Amino acid sequence: MMPKVIAALLLISLATSLAADSLLFTNVRLVDVENASVSEPMPLAVRDGFIVAAGELGEAGRVVETSGYLIPGLAEMHAHVPQMRLGESLVHDTLVLYLAHGITTIRGMLGEPGHLTLRQQLASGEVIGPRLITSGPSFNGNSVSSAAAARDMVRAQAEAGYDLLKLHPGLWPEAFQAITETAEGLGIDYSGHISVAVGLDRTLASRQGSIDHLDGYGQKLVPEDHELYGTDPGLFAINLVSAMDESLIPELARRTVEAGIANVPTQSLIENWAAADVEALLARDGMRWIPVQTREQWRGAIENIRGRIPEGQGQRFVEIRRQLIGALHEAGATILLGADAPQIMSIPGDAIHHELEIYVESGMSPAEALATGTVNIARYLDQPAHGCLEPGCVADLVLLTDNPLEDIRHSRSIQGVMRAGRWFDRERLDELLDDIAERAAAGQ
Ligand SMILES: [Zn+2]
Repeated sequence: MMPKVIAALLLISLATSLAADSLLFTNVRLVDVENASVSEPMPLAVRDGFIVAAGELGEAGRVVETSGYLIPGLAEMHAHVPQMRLGESLVHDTLVLYLAHGITTIRGMLGEPGHLTLRQQLASGEVIGPRLITSGPSFNGNSVSSAAAARDMVRAQAEAGYDLLKLHPGLWPEAFQAITETAEGLGIDYSGHISVAVGLDRTLASRQGSIDHLDGYGQKLVPEDHELYGTDPGLFAINLVSAMDESLIPELARRTVEAGIANVPTQSLIENWAAADVEALLARDGMRWIPVQTREQWRGAIENIRGRIPEGQGQRFVEIRRQLIGALHEAGATILLGADAPQIMSIPGDAIHHELEIYVESGMSPAEALATGTVNIARYLDQPAHGCLEPGCVADLVLLTDNPLEDIRHSRSIQGVMRAGRWFDRERLDELLDDIAERAAAGQ
């Protein structure tokens, strides 16, 4: 072990050499999402990527004169990083979109080997964007042919260094069990969908980390004596909406709490698909960042999905899901913020703010909604230096003009974003966003 004195000297010399990487916000109000309170205006100091006590800073390399509200950076727990083969600029633009909207951590839910390199480049600051947590390639009915194949695939992904395993539809119970046993043995998280043949009961009995899209719940809302019970559920159980009985929701919420499994609702995505006006979605301001050809693909894809939703059931589907989110929250189940961008009509970054609004409309306070993207994530990942605003916390921060506890829509009033101590003010963010809009309009 290194003698303490030498370690301390090393720390001091490191701090001195990085003095230029220090920054002081002069007059910020810190938003405490756990106590739903806001501090008096105070200075907040950052050095070498961490928050430090203001007295420890000495002379700041940079001073940000401000009177705004600081929240910890947000996380998007069901994000997608485009495949590298689609081109570096699309990948990099997507990452900047997340960051410019205050998202400093993303959990990429469909990884590939190139994303492991990207994770490193994001960590070192070589590529601009949020911190990346990445799954490996998907476990599904096609990629997993047997229990033995499932075990091999779990071992290979753990060895490759992926942060978690992504479960997709089509798994059989034997394969699911092989995944759970092998993953638990290796200590790697498995999260995502619930295959129809696996079902919510087996999942709640497992140690799956998160259930994404509220998958698997819709089937369990159909009473066993209903004629639709056990029939083809369709996309997220949309076929079963007419048979769903809301009185079954509280029991499912209670069982979720008991199982200790988190949910990543991605409700904004489903609302876009099921109920929103397609032309209004395409007319949103943020669409300027989406390549023109992608917008057209999205239009076609959503028309296809709409064709599969039973007549008049879209709005009811949305309402039942909102009740489920409210009940899960009320019962004390963990909700993690996630919107599934850039899936169809889901604009990276922008979608997270829509998702936050939906959580509030489903029964959370603004502080509780912000917790889903900050402290809940830190607890879920067991990373206590994230999602906080105290000395020792990673300096992933969002500076807002307006108080988000008064109105959750104020989470959009972003003056600047800090990622691991690196500061992007509004002007810099707008430059980056305008560049993206230019490429998107040119179809690049
Ligand atoms: Zn997804």
